[in-house]
Amino acid sequence: MVKKIIAIIVGLFCFGFTCGTLGSKIVKNINEGKPAKYVFLFIGDGMGHAQAFLSESYLAYKDSGKFGGSQLLFTQFPDLGTCFTHSASSRVTDSAAAGTAIATGHKTHNGWLGMDADGNNVYSMAVDFHNMGYNVGVYSSVPVNHATPAAFYAHNNHRSDYYNISKQIPEGGFEFYGGANFLEFEGPEGEPDTEEYLESNGYQVAFGQAEFDQIKDSEHVVLLAEPRSVGATEYVSDATEAPQTMLLADMTRNALEFLGDEKPFFIMCEGGEIDYMCHDDKTMPTVEATLKFNDAVQVAYDFYLKHPKQTLIVVTADHETGGLTLGAEPLSYAIDWATMEQQWEESGHQNTLSPEENKALNESCGFGWTTTHHTGAPVPIYAIGKGSDKFRSRMDNTDIINKILCR
Ligand SMILES: [Zn+2]
Repeated sequence: MVKKIIAIIVGLFCFGFTCGTLGSKIVKNINEGKPAKYVFLFIGDGMGHAQAFLSESYLAYKDSGKFGGSQLLFTQFPDLGTCFTHSASSRVTDSAAAGTAIATGHKTHNGWLGMDADGNNVYSMAVDFHNMGYNVGVYSSVPVNHATPAAFYAHNNHRSDYYNISKQIPEGGFEFYGGANFLEFEGPEGEPDTEEYLESNGYQVAFGQAEFDQIKDSEHVVLLAEPRSVGATEYVSDATEAPQTMLLADMTRNALEFLGDEKPFFIMCEGGEIDYMCHDDKTMPTVEATLKFNDAVQVAYDFYLKHPKQTLIVVTADHETGGLTLGAEPLSYAIDWATMEQQWEESGHQNTLSPEENKALNESCGFGWTTTHHTGAPVPIYAIGKGSDKFRSRMDNTDIINKILCR
């Protein structure tokens, strides 16, 4: 009896000590079950909580000047978590390290792709899915060899070694790659250009919809957003300049059609130009890029409605960019959407303002931007479908792969 009482006292003491200590760990959810048959991972580059609620504030304003209550599609998903993003070398990550952490579950140094912090190659969930017999699509609204998509197929400790990153596409061996274009398309002197290299290694490269329609029966494709006649622009959302350019939603439709639903698939879709706009602290272009990203999620959601028990859609960001918020000095409690929107309409939806003019416009309208770089702010993660409840928590970006792969 005495022994029993002592055991209870010792037990209570240990329990109180463990649970009462700041930073103590709780047992995490076990990621049991089988992965969904159809998996969509959407990454809004630079899209923190603020970029989403900025867009929703704009939608509410458009809805008869309301202050709130309008939502994007993906913010209505039933499961929501918060994801921390630091890299192995910095409290503020870049897209290469964050993409690697999400894709592979390994923290690494800023600027590194598909390698852990010790320099070993590490492999993405796209590779795991491919090995499990899934078709794989990896694409972006920015170049195919930019950091976020590259984190799913490449291994390089220089994210800007673009030509050699492109050459790793056939090693990934995925069925569908896509993006705005290729950086360093030409390659060094004496070497084949990117298209020649890919075509001699089993990939058809299609520039724009018409070329894609001709090669839909191929096994491996790289789809670029614009026809050859247009010439490369930086990102897919340049549709106002080049109306024949494919938007991210169009590319998602093409990826779905190409991969089909007979075999299981994994799709990684990046909304890359959100980050580009936030590096310039551009308010309306950030809203527009976020809405285009939301349109791409809508295509996946329509697919989900047809296969709700077999589909998982996860929407998150690699980091926040710009240190954005609603409300800034010198205004108090006021946001002037009317002036912000008027400037955007008058410019014909073009980025025409100088950095100084843009700063003055943001200040006069109450939009706060603290930096033209990334921040360490945690990002949201939204999920719907098979296994989405696992994302209902605080997590690290290295946890995402295990939740998706159920391991
Ligand atoms: Zn960035």
